[in-house]
Amino acid sequence: MSIGEFELIRRFFNRPPRRFDVVEGIGDDCALLKPQAGKCLAMTVDTLVEGVHFLPGTNPENLGHKALAVSLSDLAAMGAAPAWVTLALSLPETDENWLGGFANGFRSLADHYGVELVGGDTTRGPLSITVQAVGLVGEEGALRRSSARWGDGIYLTGELGLAGLGLEILLGNSALQVPEAVAKLERPQPRVNAGLSLAGFANACIDVSDGLAADLGHILKASGVGATLDWTALPMPSPVRQYIEMGGDEWMPLRAGDDYELCFTVSTEREDALVSRMADFGSSCVRIGRIDQQMGLRLRKGGGVFDMAAMGYKHFTNGA
Ligand code: ADP
Ligand code: MG
Repeated sequence: MSIGEFELIRRFFNRPPRRFDVVEGIGDDCALLKPQAGKCLAMTVDTLVEGVHFLPGTNPENLGHKALAVSLSDLAAMGAAPAWVTLALSLPETDENWLGGFANGFRSLADHYGVELVGGDTTRGPLSITVQAVGLVGEEGALRRSSARWGDGIYLTGELGLAGLGLEILLGNSALQVPEAVAKLERPQPRVNAGLSLAGFANACIDVSDGLAADLGHILKASGVGATLDWTALPMPSPVRQYIEMGGDEWMPLRAGDDYELCFTVSTEREDALVSRMADFGSSCVRIGRIDQQMGLRLRKGGGVFDMAAMGYKHFTNGA
């Protein structure tokens, strides 16, 4: 490496801790952290590998943002407030421009949510980025996959299919020019505030990283219930509708991952209060269906009800 490991950490990642609950940050054998009394630690780790989770040549600033965003999205899906992260980098070479961009993207998102980078590891190897994130959540308020109940409304933050369209564009499978679709793929916004507004209020929650059908499927399986979605209620932005009208895969919005929206369920008696509660946290959502007693996932579309498993489950699974 042209600059040494310790110089690299000092230049791009180390700075004095900003959070009061970081007793020792980067620089010792371990970070020392002071969790809030009475809270659970919510802990998650995700790895992004070049050529598997992102295309070679991806802009480093976007990559720094996304590497952190996917972990913050998992914390949001539990209703946890993000606190601390560690970062393990495997780098083929020390490219200072690349590192500067990556560190910027990572740091701006961390600063936006008051998250502190407290440690990590740096090695030479194929480009791969691992982020471990820790958040804080009350035990009672945590949003699990297993708590959906019959009759619950099923809701989604944001819109569906834009990141999937972004990938189709980058792969050269769509001639549409939609910069916001590529931006949604490369710089997803973790729904941290939505997650905080739902803690102790929603019944079940998951973040949409592998596609709505697959991820909602996890809630249904863990909760022992089924669901029916309403095609007309799915919040698809106009470029996604255009993509479908031009002959693109009409199931893409249900199948494609990387949207990083939250899908959650709310008891009927709480549905009236939901919108204003989320608005207080600067978030919004739409109802896309309802939890049923009958197992399985169904879609109401054009006067019919389709069993999504019978339509070919391979439409809704995703290799990554
Ligand atoms: P150790 O030998 O104890 O594992 P290292 O030499 O790997 O320590 O790292 C030195 C310090 O720098 C540690 O505090 C570690 O957490 C931190 N660190 C290493 N790489 C990174 C990174 N990419 N981002 C943030 N902190 C890092
Ligand atoms: Mg180490």
